[in-house]
Amino acid sequence: MEQPIYLDNAATTKTAPEVVEAMLPYFTEHYGNPSSIYSLGSAAKEAVTRARERIAATMGAKTNEIYFTGGGSEADNWALTATAEAYAGKGKHIITSKIEHHAVLHTCEYLEKRGYEVTYIDVDENGILKLEDLKQAIRPDTILISVMFANNEIGTIQPVREIGELARERGILFHTDAVQAYAHVPIDVEELKIDMLSASGHKFNGPKGIGFLYIRKGIKIRSFLHGGQQERGRRAGTENVPGIVGIGRAAELAFSRLEENRTKEKALRDHLIKRLGEEVPYCRLNGDAKMRLSNNVNYSFRFIEGESLLIMLDMKGICASSGSACTSGSLDPSHVLLAIGLPHEIAHGSLRLTVSAENTMEEMDRVANAVKEIVGKLREMSPLYEDFIKKQK
Ligand SMILES: *Cc1c(COP(=O)(O)O)cnc(C)c1O
Repeated sequence: MEQPIYLDNAATTKTAPEVVEAMLPYFTEHYGNPSSIYSLGSAAKEAVTRARERIAATMGAKTNEIYFTGGGSEADNWALTATAEAYAGKGKHIITSKIEHHAVLHTCEYLEKRGYEVTYIDVDENGILKLEDLKQAIRPDTILISVMFANNEIGTIQPVREIGELARERGILFHTDAVQAYAHVPIDVEELKIDMLSASGHKFNGPKGIGFLYIRKGIKIRSFLHGGQQERGRRAGTENVPGIVGIGRAAELAFSRLEENRTKEKALRDHLIKRLGEEVPYCRLNGDAKMRLSNNVNYSFRFIEGESLLIMLDMKGICASSGSACTSGSLDPSHVLLAIGLPHEIAHGSLRLTVSAENTMEEMDRVANAVKEIVGKLREMSPLYEDFIKKQK
């Protein structure tokens, strides 16, 4: 078999060799506890401080506004549950969108069971939040707006600036799940009026199990884990020093190559979008053509099952993902594809390909050829397709 082609960078990315190299000494050599007073501990402490400074500097934040977490899901859980609790005196209404990651949606459901009210705002057919609906949804008891920066399935980038301005004007906190956007898109938390932002290391060539929550200074938010004084008493537990060093190095690398990577990814993405769109009949590009992450391709192909397509791509060494039925074992299509108005049967035939700057044009051509061939084969076996063709004649 030829070399595998990895096109699932929205699910996770390869840890950069430079990141692994930076982390290694913090397992074996500088393994001290950052809270200790001897120098073995202070070396670890300094490394944590450096990583925090580096990350803060990438987004216009202050060092003490960055709180390390065990990943993106934890940051999302923290932002929502802790704000809900801290601001319950002001109100119990939260606004979010219908296309959030489950880390936000399931946390909202959890809060609903505990007496909070959540409004889920619609998106248009391209997956962009309807700002008018957001304005309409705001009430005197609204305490939080949580809208993702960019969507993990269809890659749409939300009007974050407009949301930030609206929230600030109305005195409502604004949290954004930027797990897909941070280190892929330039972000300035001051300029965009973001109060809280979640990010995750493994989505930008850092290690898994480490992320951070940016919390703007002055925001009342309760501690997430109770225990020691780590993370200024808000997230107890001995720091994941190698992970923190890794995410810091990954951020540094990603930002030093941000524009270069985006340009490369866009060229790969657009080539793939063009070839599939032109060569595979009865397909639909999901997500906005312009307001889109530079690495995201998402197509629905009529008359086929996304799962079968994935399995056959895997046999050709191509790692992709589907927005449909999926990992949970449920047969429900993705909530994101349903929210942009796709009927169930079309949502089921969806494919997400997320590139990295390390992919090549040659790989894109191999993938386009493979998708074209497999979709053709699957349709030959599809009774729905047969009926459709008969009716056409
Ligand atoms: C991956 C992802 C998460 C979860 O991050 P983890 O670090 O895997 O917990 C949350 N939100 C979005 C948009 C994601 O893509």
